[in-house]
Amino acid sequence: MNTIPVEKTRCLIIGSGPAGYTAAIYAARANLSPILYEGIQPGGQLTTTTDIENFPGYPEGVSGYEMMQDLKKQAMRFGADVRIGIATQIDLSAAPYKVTIDGEKMLETDTLIFATGATAKYLGLPDEQKYAGMGVSACATCDGFFYRKKAVAVVGGGDTACEEALYLASLATIVYLIVRKPYLRASKVMQERVMNTPNIKVLFEHNTVGLFGENGVEGAHLVKRMGEEDEEKVDIQIDGFFLAIGHTPNSGLISEWVETDETGYIKTVPGTPRTNVPGVFAAGDVADPHYRQAITAAASGCMAAIEAERYLLHV
Ligand code: NDP
Repeated sequence: MNTIPVEKTRCLIIGSGPAGYTAAIYAARANLSPILYEGIQPGGQLTTTTDIENFPGYPEGVSGYEMMQDLKKQAMRFGADVRIGIATQIDLSAAPYKVTIDGEKMLETDTLIFATGATAKYLGLPDEQKYAGMGVSACATCDGFFYRKKAVAVVGGGDTACEEALYLASLATIVYLIVRKPYLRASKVMQERVMNTPNIKVLFEHNTVGLFGENGVEGAHLVKRMGEEDEEKVDIQIDGFFLAIGHTPNSGLISEWVETDETGYIKTVPGTPRTNVPGVFAAGDVADPHYRQAITAAASGCMAAIEAERYLLHV
């Protein structure tokens, strides 16, 4: 016998980054009385960056934490019910959809907005933690501006790494691209751009084993051809260390029910946040392998709430 308490709602939002909060603002203003669960990292990835300077409307920039607090307040002002809690199980076999929170409570919802974001991959070095917010970043678009006329390194050999290296090359004096293989995995066009940019130096067959610096990153310890007989230790002087070795979309909980691509990003009907399950929408980075910006996440959260409202008119 199921003894878990059940609560009913018309609109449930999972995730509290710009996508989730924006969906909550729009859904609340449409009188859907949304319930939002903040998830594992309240405020999402932006709470781990420093200042956000590219979100329109903040001419002086704003800290990621502050922006998320503002979005939360704005959602609550219109009646969104923002709660601490983690979705632990989802059942989309039939509407109303069932979502278990913290393993101890169930919500039945007519619409579900899934906005759980993505998590940047790190190498797993203790120094990445040690220098978090002090020179280590996983977003060149967010933090690159702080490295004007400085030296930086980007780790990775895919399209993201090349794109980030090119972006940083327009700001920094030198960009080291640290690639573990003897070749780039990125598309030909990106490879050519990287190779033709004079201030990008590609370090093939290099692995990072540590970072150093007194009050922030001042350099990285690399090993060339690690594990081979001719392995070589190399140190580079840098001010910023950027990871671009991929992101993991946080879709595991729902991937049994909605279509995802081969890397786990939720597939949506192009130009909309609609998944293949009626009334279930995906917003923000969990469905976006390409842009991953606060502004694009917020926009898709808005679209998801409008879609939820329209869907509810017809059920
Ligand atoms: P990818 O998975 O394509 O590339 C990841 C890169 O990181 C690879 O070079 C990989 O090395 C390297 N890497 C992974 N783990 C480690 C590690 N532990 N140490 C060192 N290096 C590591 O991810 P991307 O984010 O670059 O791209 C994801 C998808 O998005 C791709 O399909 C890409 O084409 C697409 N994309 C398209 C863009 C565009 O069209 N403008 C822009 C950005 C992304 P290795 O090769 O050795 O496995």
